[in-house]
Amino acid sequence: MTEVLAAPGPVGAPPDRDVLLEVRSLRTYFKVLDGIVPAVDDISFSLKRGQTLGIVGESGSGKSVTALTIMRLLDIPPASIGDGSEVWFDGREILSMPLDEMRKIRGNDAAMIFQEPLTSLNPVFTIGDQIAEQVELHLKIKKRAAMDRAIESLQLVGIPSPERRVKQYPHEMSGGMRQRVMIAMALSCEPKLLIADEPTTALDVTIQAQILELLKSIQQRTGSALLLITHDLGVVAEMVDNVIVMYTGQIVEQGTVHEVLLEPRDPYTMGLLESIPSVEKRGGRLSAIKGVVPSPFNLPPACRFEPRCPYAWDRCRTVPPDLNRVGSGGHLARCHLHTSEGAGRLPDALQRHRTALNLGRTLPTGGH
Ligand code: SF4
Repeated sequence: MTEVLAAPGPVGAPPDRDVLLEVRSLRTYFKVLDGIVPAVDDISFSLKRGQTLGIVGESGSGKSVTALTIMRLLDIPPASIGDGSEVWFDGREILSMPLDEMRKIRGNDAAMIFQEPLTSLNPVFTIGDQIAEQVELHLKIKKRAAMDRAIESLQLVGIPSPERRVKQYPHEMSGGMRQRVMIAMALSCEPKLLIADEPTTALDVTIQAQILELLKSIQQRTGSALLLITHDLGVVAEMVDNVIVMYTGQIVEQGTVHEVLLEPRDPYTMGLLESIPSVEKRGGRLSAIKGVVPSPFNLPPACRFEPRCPYAWDRCRTVPPDLNRVGSGGHLARCHLHTSEGAGRLPDALQRHRTALNLGRTLPTGGH
């Protein structure tokens, strides 16, 4: 029999010391003209110090809202956080802490890198001034020392002639260079947690690889934990230890990168993997998940993936699936195939998935 897992830790109690970030029963809503949208719907996960966690999903899955909620960067209202939601960071519950205190954590112990650096950098200040201002504010050091720190961080992210670059404005740099500046800014205060939201999506493929390599090496050197948000399973395969797959605001699968990418147990994850082009599939038909992500105002009544799922049966239309344990460790999947009612259908689903992948047993971009 499968077992339904509860939230990681007991309500109101701090997690173990080796856990840097623990999210418990997090729910984030948006009040819009047509009603209330549950953008993040009861998710729980934890990230240990120095580790890397990927959150994957299509647009509208709630992955970016999760990050913005953790960093308390959402305007409340129109956003609101559900009762009972908890986010523990470095031993403190941060959703309930005064905003002044949260600001000290943000940019200091926890930093975020956004998808489009041009919109995150201020066009009227030099790069050096922007990094130095943040360092001055958070580390309480003098302007001269803060500028030296800015130069050091540009050097760390591989920007040549940093003494000259600090005097430049964002528009004088390429997209790849600006993203490096954003990473330098995020790292300038040596955060314990770095959240990167689609950090390479706006960049061309060669620069993407360089930025990911840079993030990985800096993370290994500084020991920061990394929460990486992406729609790209290839990036996940290269970068993370553990993965969460989100769909319509819920976690549908979570586990180690090997479990989720090599032994997926949720039909949505299987569909995402089957739709990745690969050498083995050359000449064959590329499968895509049929249909579209449902409107948050019109979610299917039970399993939210049911209208798009090739394995759906009656139960999927009437009973919402729980997040079930599907292996010996922390591998979880939100699917009735992993209950006693669906056990007879599971072998067929797994076989069809293997066939769709053309029996390829490699990770999406060639191994981890
Ligand atoms: S619960 Fe049913 S519809 Fe939902 S993913 Fe599993 S098999 Fe598909």
